[in-house]
Amino acid sequence: MRWSSQKPTALAADALPGFDSPDSALALSGLVRTVRPPEFAGLTFHEVLAKSALNRVPGGGGGLPFGWTINPYRGCSHACVYCFARPTHEYLDLDAGRDFDAQVVVKLNVAEVLARELARPSWQRDPVALGTNTDPYQRAEGRYALMPGIIEALAASGTPLSILTKGTLLRRDLPLLQSVAPSVPVDLSMSIAIYDHELQQSIEPGTPSTDARLATIRAAVDAGFTPSVFLMPLLPDLTDTRAHLDEAFARIREAGARSAVHSSLRLGPGVREWFFAWLEREHPDRVERYRALYSDGPHPPKAYRAWLAARVDEVRRAHGLRAPALDTATGTVRSTALAGPRQRAAASRRAVPPTPVAAPVRPVAATLF
Ligand code: SF4
Repeated sequence: MRWSSQKPTALAADALPGFDSPDSALALSGLVRTVRPPEFAGLTFHEVLAKSALNRVPGGGGGLPFGWTINPYRGCSHACVYCFARPTHEYLDLDAGRDFDAQVVVKLNVAEVLARELARPSWQRDPVALGTNTDPYQRAEGRYALMPGIIEALAASGTPLSILTKGTLLRRDLPLLQSVAPSVPVDLSMSIAIYDHELQQSIEPGTPSTDARLATIRAAVDAGFTPSVFLMPLLPDLTDTRAHLDEAFARIREAGARSAVHSSLRLGPGVREWFFAWLEREHPDRVERYRALYSDGPHPPKAYRAWLAARVDEVRRAHGLRAPALDTATGTVRSTALAGPRQRAAASRRAVPPTPVAAPVRPVAATLF
């Protein structure tokens, strides 16, 4: 099994005393051990054996009643201040702030569990989205390399997949994705919302730079994909200006993407506190404006959202870009497998799974940022 080399005995040298058994005080089902590898300074990895891999989410797009997602990690070292997934860490008795950024749960056996789930006769080969809750190409992926096994399992079962990420580590898997793309639809998206370097480093401190992500878009285009860009979220007064949008869409177009989609900033419970602490520290002059915009809940007023949508649409069109269709269940781009009647027919013809893809050469574990 792929994770056999990662059993406790194999890497016991960096296991933490008191955290290496299921008796840990942490509310983690299936905990194998906890490690703090020196090459990942400031990060703690809680390695678990997951019972399931596929998550069913309601409200699917393309005529489907629900969508499917996989999250190989919980928590995210990309550490975006605005991350909407922060409160999910509280279910683990960890906090939604610093713990979300620094204490990452790793599902060591996710690919093996997934392969079993995909082999069930009841599996309909509906599209599966990766990167909807936490980033599958965050730093931990450089150590654990879970994504190749996930991609192989999905492709071998004839299941369309989509990936949304901020991680430039995606480049490592482009050859594998190229090899499976003739068998199953593969949709790639990169989240790049901030084109001001200083602001980007401040609010997304664990992410690769905007330049590096745009270069990854270019690499995906050169590999034959048609990636979309997610400008999510746009920040009132900070990144919703015409000048910022103009630069954003110009650079997206220059990188080779042909579609881009935006959303306004959402500040739900658990995120709101963390975000305002950052705003007070970094942009105290904006606090009053944001408090007014978010006085009624997690979303800014409808009027602001309508204004923003009109502005984005205008600037996007001026740069010759389009808005991709989204899957309402997963929030990612709607799978090309569901794009129209012809594609639907093609999807239904996948009743016979394609020949399993050849196992790729295992990449050397590496962090790119
Ligand atoms: S990359 Fe995505 S999942 Fe990770 S912290 Fe940023 S917004 Fe959250």
